[in-house]
Amino acid sequence: MDYQKLADLIYPNLEHDTQYYEDMFPERDLPKGAQVLRTAPSPTGFIHLGNLYGALADERVAHQSNGVFYLRIEDTDLKRKVDGAVETIISVFDYFKIRFDEGAEVEPMGKYGPYYQRQRAEIYQTYAKKLISEGKAYPCFCTEEELNEIREKQTALNVGTGYYGEWAIWRNATYEQVEERIKNGEPFVIRMRAMGNPEIKHTVHDEIKGDVVVTENNMDAVLIKNDGIPTYHFAHAIDDHLMHTTIVLRGEEWLGTWNIHLELFNMLGFKLPKYAHTTVLMKIDETGTKRKLSKRKDPELSLDYYRQLGYHPYAIKIYLLTILNWNFEEWYLKNPDADIETFKFSLDKMGQSGTLFDLEKLNNICKTYLSKFSLEEMKDYLREFVKTYHKDDYDIYFGNEEKLDKILTLGMGLNLKKRRKDYINASQILESIALYYDEFKSQKDEYRFDNELVKNVLADFFSSYKYADDNNTWFEKVKTIGEKYGFTGDMKAYRANPEQFKGSVSDIAEIIRIAVTGQKNTPDLWTIMQILGEDTSLRRINDALKEL
Ligand code: GLU
Repeated sequence: MDYQKLADLIYPNLEHDTQYYEDMFPERDLPKGAQVLRTAPSPTGFIHLGNLYGALADERVAHQSNGVFYLRIEDTDLKRKVDGAVETIISVFDYFKIRFDEGAEVEPMGKYGPYYQRQRAEIYQTYAKKLISEGKAYPCFCTEEELNEIREKQTALNVGTGYYGEWAIWRNATYEQVEERIKNGEPFVIRMRAMGNPEIKHTVHDEIKGDVVVTENNMDAVLIKNDGIPTYHFAHAIDDHLMHTTIVLRGEEWLGTWNIHLELFNMLGFKLPKYAHTTVLMKIDETGTKRKLSKRKDPELSLDYYRQLGYHPYAIKIYLLTILNWNFEEWYLKNPDADIETFKFSLDKMGQSGTLFDLEKLNNICKTYLSKFSLEEMKDYLREFVKTYHKDDYDIYFGNEEKLDKILTLGMGLNLKKRRKDYINASQILESIALYYDEFKSQKDEYRFDNELVKNVLADFFSSYKYADDNNTWFEKVKTIGEKYGFTGDMKAYRANPEQFKGSVSDIAEIIRIAVTGQKNTPDLWTIMQILGEDTSLRRINDALKEL
């Protein structure tokens, strides 16, 4: 068979040869030891924790070695492509401050593009043509039905399914057979002519898993689909070669087809990059079972979950590093104030099987992180979140910064030594300060006493309230009101014999609390009223009275 003739028949119109691309994308000029890594998400509209987990590892290894980290968009599968997905990918990585040196939508883009695979169709075809001309690849005209038939026969005979060996019916087709189909305009794919023997196994080094046993490949895998676009296998080989990736870090779901990739690099005469296969993220679910995080069942798998709730990106990174490198946690304990970028990250300290993702632990890290914020840091953080997700409310929060400062320092106790440490994310903080704003306050709890009593207590409180009263004087007044209605201010006596009283002063305070804030659990009520100011406090009591 004249393979060159076959190659010209299949691809008569390609403008360049492979040497053209080899010259166009020369070796990168980088310092010794510099590593080149990429993250290569598919634009499916769903960007998950695994993407960030991998990207963070990529970014650390690249930047720690003064190398390059780039973004490639693997948009080869049109069926899975979703409009706006690339924008989502970029904005999510931006939110988590993952810095790319080059790639899709990066400024400047870099010299190894285009970084969208669909825009590289001609490059892949040029390399496919070369493989055909060397007898290492061939066109296959099998229809879906024919492939199904092959599979059925294989199943009946109890042999391995797939397109290989004598089952690969187009593997040894003649030039004339191919020519006839081409003349008829029939669709075809390009397959590799696999030369591996599945009886033979090799040990291959993985940067994370160590030595891995890989069986030789005998599958004539598809390289170019019938629309001229490559499969993942081929695009991976061509792109990572031309873009000079030195470490291919990707999910371990690719271990199963690694043998195809190894054979392809060999066939193409490319230098093999290093590989690092990351483990899948698991969780322990409500039933105590350890299982893979699932898109359907676990909202926390989506990165948008964290963004929408306003999780602090840095805190998420701290958590991710905790599960990425087993020695990070100890380092961070010793260096709680150090920039996490100064931690020496290494691939061989990554977990080798099923990394456990624990939302509660992540939340705890966020709590600790936020509990160290100064007033300015807290405001910057909330400002960013409100600007993005609650734009219409921006003026309410930030139009009166004096009030916000008071809420955060006095109300949230940001200035106290023993401040609250249970804030996880920005939306939770906004929810907890909603009670200070008429616009957001809501009636969360109901009074536990009859209307008559509530009315009397509120009316008495309204007439005796003085803004200038200090906390003690204020509390004495509340006690006095309570006692008038059979509620004791003597907590000791109350605890000893609760049945002797109608209730305690805290029940009375609860009535006032619900009237002022709409809820029964709040920070110190006197402080809240100081923050609200005299007018607002009295108006709220008055409104509550009117509603009874
Ligand atoms: N698009 C592939 C994925 O999302 C990329 C795998 C790789 O990094 O090579 O799994």
